[in-house]
Formats: sequence, C-alpha cells, structure tokens
Amino acid sequence: MSHTNIKLYGTNWCSDCKRSKKFLGEQRVRYDFINIEEDMEGQAFVQKLQNGGLTIPTIVFEDGSTPNSQPFKNIAKLDAQGFIMTGIDFQTSTVGIFAAGDVRSGSTKQLVSAAGEGAAAALDMCEHLCGQHARSMENALVGTASN
Ligand SMILES: Cc1cc2nc3c(=O)[nH]c(=O)nc-3n(C[C@H](O)[C@H](O)[C@H](O)COP(=O)(O)OP(=O)(O)OC[C@H]3O[C@@H](n4cnc5c(N)ncnc54)[C@H](O)[C@@H]3O)c2cc1C
Repeated sequence: MSHTNIKLYGTNWCSDCKRSKKFLGEQRVRYDFINIEEDMEGQAFVQKLQNGGLTIPTIVFEDGSTPNSQPFKNIAKLDAQGFIMTGIDFQTSTVGIFAAGDVRSGSTKQLVSAAGEGAAAALDMCEHLCGQHARSMENALVGTASN
C-alpha cells in the first residue's frame, strides 16, 4: 500500500490536513495520505504515537530514530530497538554481511561518524574478501598439489 517515506495521517475535512497536502504538493514532495477515519490501523498508529491523542495532521518521515532494518531481520541479529548489531569490524552475525551508519546498533547517529563507519566497514569488507580470496587460492594450490 505504501509507496513513499512520508506519511500524512489526517481526514478529508481537516483544514490543516488540506493545507499540509497543498504545501507538500506545491513542493512536489511525494507522500502517502492515510485517512484515519477509514484506516483503523492508521488511526491506532497515530494514537500510539500520541499516547492516546489524535491530533491531525500527523506527518511521519524517516529521521533515523526508527531503523529500516526489517529486510535484515532474518539475516542479522537486531537489538531491542531493531538496530543491526555488529562486531568492531562492522560484521553482522552473518559472516560477510556488514552494517554501518545510523542503522547500526550503538552508532552515534551523526553524519560524520556514519560516513566514517562506511569507510571503515568498506576496509573491513576488503580484508574479509582478501582473506577469502587467499584461502581459496590456498585451497586451489593444495588441490593442484594433490593431483
Ligand atoms: C532532520 C535531521 C537533521 C540532522 N542533522 C544532523 C546534523 O546537524 N549533524 C549530523 O552530524 N547529523 C545530523 N543528522 C543525522 C544524519 O543525517 C545521519 O546520521 C546520517 O544521514 C546517517 O547516514 P546513513 O548513511 O547511516 O543513513 P541515511 O542517511 O539515513 O541513508 C540511508 C539510505 O538508505 C536508504 N534505504 C533505507 N532502506 C532501504 C532499503 N530497504 N533498500 C534500499 N535503500 C534503503 C534510504 O532511503 C537512505 O537513502 C540529522 C538527521 C535528521 C533526520
């Protein structure tokens, strides 16, 4: 159902919702509109966000506080908040899968550190792949020697 990273929860009659939709439209920002009078799941979501309140419009966008780690839930161990856990080499619980930046558990959620983590993780990946390459070369040589 959802196609964008921005969700506007509201109703068709709410004037602030109309103004918000107009503004986003003028800025050519794509968003999903969820009518909380028709979508009970959407209504429950807004109430949960607001501890029972139902102020609209409620506009939800990715700000790093909720990791988009679901595609990895069966691949890597996640912490209680859903951030991907890694070792100091940025490797996840699955050998050969690395994580860096905001989605990584324990990261500082800052631009510079995310970029730094990305670079460090890339170097660790290289080391991992070089190790694999060296091992497969070794195996090939052992194979050749035993032939
Ligand atoms: C409003 C705001 C203000 C900020 N101000 C500062 C600041 O002043 N100083 C500072 O240091 N930091 C600031 N930050 C934090 C900073 O933006 C982040 O720490 C940084 O962008 C993290 O980089 P990242 O590459 O880890 O993640 P992101 O920048 O979030 O990049 C992740 C990318 O992955 C994409 N993606 C997500 N899921 C998938 C998927 N399933 N498949 C493919 N792609 C996917 C996303 O679309 C996104 O492009 C701010 C953040 C916000 C929201």
